[in-house]
Amino acid sequence: MVLGNSLSIVNASKYYKKFKAVDDVNLTVNQGEFLTILGPSGSGKTSLLKLIAGFEQLSNGSIILNDEDISKQKPYERQIGMLFQNYALFPHMTVFDNIAYPLRLRKTPKDEIKQKVESILKLVHLEQYGYRYPEQLSGGQQQRVALARAIVFNPPLLLLDEPLGALDKQLRKQMQLEIKHIQKQVGITTVSVTHDQEEALTMSDKICIMNHGRIEQIDTPENIYKHPKNRFVAEFIGEINLIKGSVVNVSEENVKVKFHDSLIADIERKKDSVKEMKDQSILIALRPENIQVAREQSHFQNTIRAQIIEIIYVGEAVNIKTVTETGEEITAKIPAHISDLPGRGKDILLGWNPKDASLIHDGTPLHYY
Ligand code: ADP
Ligand code: MG
Repeated sequence: MVLGNSLSIVNASKYYKKFKAVDDVNLTVNQGEFLTILGPSGSGKTSLLKLIAGFEQLSNGSIILNDEDISKQKPYERQIGMLFQNYALFPHMTVFDNIAYPLRLRKTPKDEIKQKVESILKLVHLEQYGYRYPEQLSGGQQQRVALARAIVFNPPLLLLDEPLGALDKQLRKQMQLEIKHIQKQVGITTVSVTHDQEEALTMSDKICIMNHGRIEQIDTPENIYKHPKNRFVAEFIGEINLIKGSVVNVSEENVKVKFHDSLIADIERKKDSVKEMKDQSILIALRPENIQVAREQSHFQNTIRAQIIEIIYVGEAVNIKTVTETGEEITAKIPAHISDLPGRGKDILLGWNPKDASLIHDGTPLHYY
């Protein structure tokens, strides 16, 4: 089966008076893909989702769903499934009737409704709950009913806006996996919005990082984490050390970076590294878990000496906060089972390998939150 692009957003902008809430966004979600829009509060996530749903009109651009331009369609004409934080089940209707609601709206025959609702109740593991009322269900169960109601009529697209925001952390983690499994099983193209990076990393095939109405990067969770394209993405996802430096040489494999006045680091040259990097100011981006404690200089291609200022146990790992001679702070995260660590105030040699770091252009405009 040849599957076309399911959802394309083309040059989409939304202005509220002169304020650009969504600023020239382009993105494509393939058939069956789970895309998460992630960004700080106010970055335009909900606005973008409302444009897709049809609750807001585009100021510019278009939205294409399965080769059809839906930009001018009313929300109900788009036939999109939606699941929001306040799941808004009808309290006076049973679980069965809640899920049957969109089918009744569409004048689906009675026996087909019964068959569809029963089969979707099975999918969300609530076979026995059809005759209960929402108030007789836990938060997680209610959210599963809301999900069932959102997809029971086979919509071409599912939109989620902070769907797990009302649940506590434990349940949220469980529901993340559950929704993802159901989404994959049904194969429905999904766009989700969250400000929770862990949720985005867990659930998505692709993540779209938004900031000030613009897209900073669209990529797989792995690439977003390992190869952030700019400083905003690097700092928004996970913990990261950013060490200022300048490029002194670019070879086929590695980039030589001078940092801390006189030290040299070899950083693997990723495919998309810019050719003309020489003499540019850059940042070496280094995740704490990619830095190790070096017993000897020769064990790592890159090392730096630093003083320990704090050691924090975080269960399975230890965060070692250090400061270098030039006053830069570097945090390393090492497995907790590593013993004989020097204590606070002591010097330590930190090491990392070329492939464990990436380079980011310095001077990326810094507009935070
Ligand atoms: P997010 O969901 O990422 O938190 P929103 O899309 O809700 O962000 O909002 C993006 C920006 O657009 C915010 O600065 C918000 O104040 C503004 N905004 C959203 N809706 C409206 C509106 N109806 N009128 C004016 N400004 C709005
Ligand atoms: Mg929002």
